[in-house]
Amino acid sequence: MTIHETMKAAVVTALKSPWEVKAVPTPRPGPTQVLIRIRASGLCYTDVHLTEGGLIDLQLPSVLGHEPVGEIVEVGSAVRTRKVGDRVGTNSLQTGCGRCEWCSRGKMIYCADQKILMVHQFGGHAEYLVAEEAATILLPDQLSFENAAPILCAGNTVWSGLRAAEPLPHSTVAVVGIGGLGHLALQYAKTAGFRTIAITRSKDKIALSRELGADEVVGSGEELARVGGADVILSTGNGYRTASDALLGLRPEGSLVVMGAAGPDEDLVIPNRTVFPQMMVNRQKIIFSQQNGREYLHEAVAIAGRGKIRVLTETFTLDEVRTAYDRVAAGTVRFRAVLVP
Ligand SMILES: [Zn+2]
Ligand SMILES: [Zn+2]
Repeated sequence: MTIHETMKAAVVTALKSPWEVKAVPTPRPGPTQVLIRIRASGLCYTDVHLTEGGLIDLQLPSVLGHEPVGEIVEVGSAVRTRKVGDRVGTNSLQTGCGRCEWCSRGKMIYCADQKILMVHQFGGHAEYLVAEEAATILLPDQLSFENAAPILCAGNTVWSGLRAAEPLPHSTVAVVGIGGLGHLALQYAKTAGFRTIAITRSKDKIALSRELGADEVVGSGEELARVGGADVILSTGNGYRTASDALLGLRPEGSLVVMGAAGPDEDLVIPNRTVFPQMMVNRQKIIFSQQNGREYLHEAVAIAGRGKIRVLTETFTLDEVRTAYDRVAAGTVRFRAVLVP
């Protein structure tokens, strides 16, 4: 296979501006890196936050995309565990400093000196991507590229969020917001054996939520309380209001896991009538969580590889990226947009 000098990529040239599909130099792998021919690259709402600015500073120009999967087409001179032809994915975190307490503890996700896709090097919305050998994960043969891509961020986020809450075998898990993250969260919770409740105000998502594994569907935290409440509430939307409302249905010693980041101008507000007496008396927790370590990513990918997760995607070519972006920004994708270069 010939690898051309340039590749097509969706480039962010200025904040708050549409991405430009254009030719950029094809990246070359360093000694510890691999070159991946991208076969699918999921869009995440984080791409919208980054383009709009305010959450993380981008060095422009940048190529976004942190759900890339594909085949390895070239390996660096020091690469030992990956070979040309391997089907892999990678998530945003590439390396830590390797020297701090958190890197030493194997918890690179807390390192203050990380190298991450999109911010320090180009991300996956392109024909090729360079990734660290150690940051790639092998994909099960049964998992298609299109279905694998959203697991790298969305699937990893919801599964690791559920793990962070440490549910018990008999726990009830509620999912707030049935969208890109939420439709996966319902399925992960159900396939792990938990009684699963969807919280949604969209009438058109009630039947779908049941299909995806919800034992019950309710419209609010109060309604959740009326059906017995939940031990774990996974808040997956891009706003905090519904997360705060869902707290009304949290059981004693339960945890609310907030996974979707709101925009820079929205604060998480919890009314004091919820904090006291409910949350204090019942020793409830709020956990903030995003993508987490590779241990959980491995689980998320493996469960999907067993055919347990139906990833609902809409696919777009790189040339259609502006349409894909607009639909992600407007929240109208059912449920995860995937670029297929
Ligand atoms: Zn993401
Ligand atoms: Zn470090």
